[in-house]
Amino acid sequence: MSKRVLILSTTTGYQLRSFGDAAQALGIELVFVTDRCHALEDPWRDGAIAIRFHEEDAAVETVVAEAARRPVHGILAVGDRPVVLGARIAEALGLPGNPPHAARASTNKRLTRERLARAGLHVPEFLISSTRADVVPLAVRLPYPVVVKPIALSGSRGVIRADTPTQLVAAFQRVSTLLSRFDIRAQRSGGEGEILVESFIPGHEYAIEGVVTDGRFTAFAVFDKPDPLDGPFFEESIYVTPPAISAETEWAILHAVQSAVSALGLRNSPVHAECRVNSEGVYVLEVAARPIGGLCSKVLRFGTGAAVRSLEYVLLQHALGHDVSRESRETEAAAVMMIPIPARGVLRGVSGEGEARLVPFVEDVQITARQDQLLEPLPEAGSYLGFIFARGPLPAQVEAAVREAHQRLVFTVVPAIDVRAG
Ligand code: ADP
Repeated sequence: MSKRVLILSTTTGYQLRSFGDAAQALGIELVFVTDRCHALEDPWRDGAIAIRFHEEDAAVETVVAEAARRPVHGILAVGDRPVVLGARIAEALGLPGNPPHAARASTNKRLTRERLARAGLHVPEFLISSTRADVVPLAVRLPYPVVVKPIALSGSRGVIRADTPTQLVAAFQRVSTLLSRFDIRAQRSGGEGEILVESFIPGHEYAIEGVVTDGRFTAFAVFDKPDPLDGPFFEESIYVTPPAISAETEWAILHAVQSAVSALGLRNSPVHAECRVNSEGVYVLEVAARPIGGLCSKVLRFGTGAAVRSLEYVLLQHALGHDVSRESRETEAAAVMMIPIPARGVLRGVSGEGEARLVPFVEDVQITARQDQLLEPLPEAGSYLGFIFARGPLPAQVEAAVREAHQRLVFTVVPAIDVRAG
């Protein structure tokens, strides 16, 4: 009997196809657990399990009943939303996973800050306020700059820097309005009534990708984020690996991520962490118990030649309990640019893709925004126009390549006409 892995996801895009390819190569079956069954063409002819992410108890029951008919051997949560449910299902089925309390803490910025602070890690000074609170008395006594953010959103949505009391009041109102939006409330992820205000941490930012196995963190890659992320909004753009840092700095980053993983209590899952490094040391801003998102995972490749493996391949092996601690990323440098949305508007067209692909070291250009799509930038909504990938001998070359390719793309965006009452 072939092994089966449950994949929990709220999306149906590239990364799931990549998991499908990896499963085929490994000779295993995937069982998809999602609230998007209507959007799915049953890619593995295996029958996806339909659940609602906000009805956790019922979802656990449904999946456990299904697993009694079709036994499963591993579980993977893809994306932020399924992390807690994935932990609960793993616990119910006795599969390797994260304790639900740890999964919950990793998806809640307040709990993350509290646990990291208790463990003695560098943590920004922070406080929590209700969205309904009068923020003016707070605004006048805070030391600036600060960052305002919702406690339970992700992808930098609603994350805003404020340098003055006036900016803080405006940012607070903006985040409160975002949290009261129907589409956000409909997700019922909890924490819609709370806003985190914390000190702005200056420094250079890195993203770290890896897995945790029985509580021990293994890094696959450290990504440099070469563009300054100083606000007022924090849109990711370029990731480059390997980063141009000393062995000591790299060790300090990995040590801090391990400490944060332990502080949260994560045991078995993919890990994607974000850190800021300055003269005081390493600040772990976030540890997510899921892999790098969507198409971006293509930036990582393992092994060489015909034996090259995707991140999804390695993660499926990990979910099945194989030792992946010796998996190492290819020796080439790699970069991805998540093409930012410049302003709110409607996308009328894209040109220059052919020219962009001709840039030396550029491997792929994928435009994911659709014709006539309404584009909404951060902080309200965060997605990208597309992705540019480059591979080559040196980090500086692949970084320059994605920048050059981006220059060659022309996006025609026209202003959106707002139809609002009043
Ligand atoms: P999300 O989970 O929505 O991505 P994060 O807390 O990870 O939210 O913040 C997103 C980004 O905002 C970070 O990667 C960083 O660039 C910036 N940021 C967040 N908090 C701070 C802070 N306290 N100081 C400086 N930058 C911050």
